Amino acid sequence: MEIRYWGTRGSVPAPGPSTVRHGGNTSCVELRLSDDSLIIIDAGTGIRALGASLGRCEATLLLTHYHWDHIQGMPFFAPAYIPGSRITIYGPESSGRGPGHWLEEQMTVPYFPAVPAQLCGVSDYNCTPFEPFRLGDAVVRAERVCHPSVTLGYRIEEAGSSFVYISDDEVDDATPQQLQKIIALAQGADVLLHDSQYSEGEYPGHRGWGHSTPRMAVQLAQEAGVKHLVLFHHDPSHSDEQVEALADEGRSLAGDLALSVAREGDVLQITGTPTIERARQSVL
Ligand SMILES: [Zn+2]
Ligand SMILES: [Zn+2]
Repeated sequence: MEIRYWGTRGSVPAPGPSTVRHGGNTSCVELRLSDDSLIIIDAGTGIRALGASLGRCEATLLLTHYHWDHIQGMPFFAPAYIPGSRITIYGPESSGRGPGHWLEEQMTVPYFPAVPAQLCGVSDYNCTPFEPFRLGDAVVRAERVCHPSVTLGYRIEEAGSSFVYISDDEVDDATPQQLQKIIALAQGADVLLHDSQYSEGEYPGHRGWGHSTPRMAVQLAQEAGVKHLVLFHHDPSHSDEQVEALADEGRSLAGDLALSVAREGDVLQITGTPTIERARQSVL
């Protein structure tokens, strides 16, 4: 199992010289299973460059929720317009509607010139079930996390490796019952990717907004017995230096827990001991 980060930012894209190392695109991760089949998690603006690298493709897209930073790249995902692509989309049921409705809503006039009917490469929309389900050789499990509106975390297991993706989650605001379910989702994972948007100093002014600090992410990872924690969903106002300072904040608390920061273009090998391959300059 291998993951590549195409968008690591939260809330809104933040391109520019101060974010060039960690990237300015919003949430999108490419996950390759051992047979090279493709799972994409979230469709933030990072999915545009992923699509350009793919051309016609077969893929499953798992959406965590419908905030813009997780869906806004979808109208720019070129494979969805290519005949012969087969893209299956899963997302939570929200206000009684599934992912087809919410993705098509952002493609109505006057917001966007192309109409949903042009997405000929999308073969299927599904509401994500809460029972585990199979995607090829992988088993996928979803759980609600602590974030405004219905928001999911995903656990993907394949060939003895496990990856848990929780992009938006406020650990300190979860009820004890909710926290137990989130810990169970992440239990013993090889890699947990988790929201760490705010510093401890910033958090009191953003309580209830649905995001965590590195301390909260480390605490969750330790309680779940995770092997490697990835800090994700960087605040758009944070420079590369501020993101690294947050990583240091997390490492000072992490003990034996391995900790890295998601950087656009980096590849993380999950099979065996997780290792990071730094982004090629061309990707950035
Ligand atoms: Zn978000
Ligand atoms: Zn959100």
